[in-house]
Amino acid sequence: MKSRLVITTIFLFTFFLSSRQCMGWGLTGHRVVAEIAERHLNKKARKAIRELMGAEPLAFWANWADFIKSDSSWRHAGKWHYVNIEGDLSREEFFTKLSSVKVENLYSQIRVLQSSLKDKNLAADQKVISLRFLIHLVGDLGQPLHVGREADQGGNKINVSWFGVSTNLHRVWDEHLVDFQQWSYTEYASVLNIASKEQVRLWQNTPLEECFYESYTLANKIYAFTPEKSRLWYDYNYLFVQDMNNQLLKSGVRLAKILNDIFG
Ligand SMILES: [Zn+2]
Repeated sequence: MKSRLVITTIFLFTFFLSSRQCMGWGLTGHRVVAEIAERHLNKKARKAIRELMGAEPLAFWANWADFIKSDSSWRHAGKWHYVNIEGDLSREEFFTKLSSVKVENLYSQIRVLQSSLKDKNLAADQKVISLRFLIHLVGDLGQPLHVGREADQGGNKINVSWFGVSTNLHRVWDEHLVDFQQWSYTEYASVLNIASKEQVRLWQNTPLEECFYESYTLANKIYAFTPEKSRLWYDYNYLFVQDMNNQLLKSGVRLAKILNDIFG
């Protein structure tokens, strides 16, 4: 009886660990992106989204696309959360690779969702699903290791420690760095959301491919600074916190632009 309990515990623990692979920003990061987007929606888009999704804020739905990974009928959607590109390519090489990835991926899926949400013939319940995905995936796009390398599964296979606790590089960027700041998601959205109108306009007019390139460039920097067995402490936070904050903010204002273009 006791051994069965031990086996069950080990099984559940292993399942818990493996199910946490490759989630995108953790709960807080995705909510920060969605909350910043909410604050940049135009009136028309806000109204249309409310009619479609209900009164909950965008942040309420920001993690749904990760939650449904537990539903086996959505297994095919797992690869929508990232795109794998080999490291250290030139700009041109990167754009060529990005547009020629064979499998469904983060880049192809964001474009599919954009056009399906603009389709007047798509049923409302399908639009709701597409919108929940879009809110989440534009967040994933800003997490640099979602434009990472296949060999290490976007840093999931790079074992490091965070303040002495074993983890992996992907999780450092999904959660540890975000949680280290100790803001609630609404506080975090407020302290970041101070960009000038001009800056917001520049970010919002960045082509989608260029946004991927920004994440990719940052991913290359992260890979270079964080090899296997790195022991990460205060200095890692100091080195990367500004990059991470920029990614969260840019993702939020860009998500707003995407939604304003669809619904506004
Ligand atoms: Zn995700």
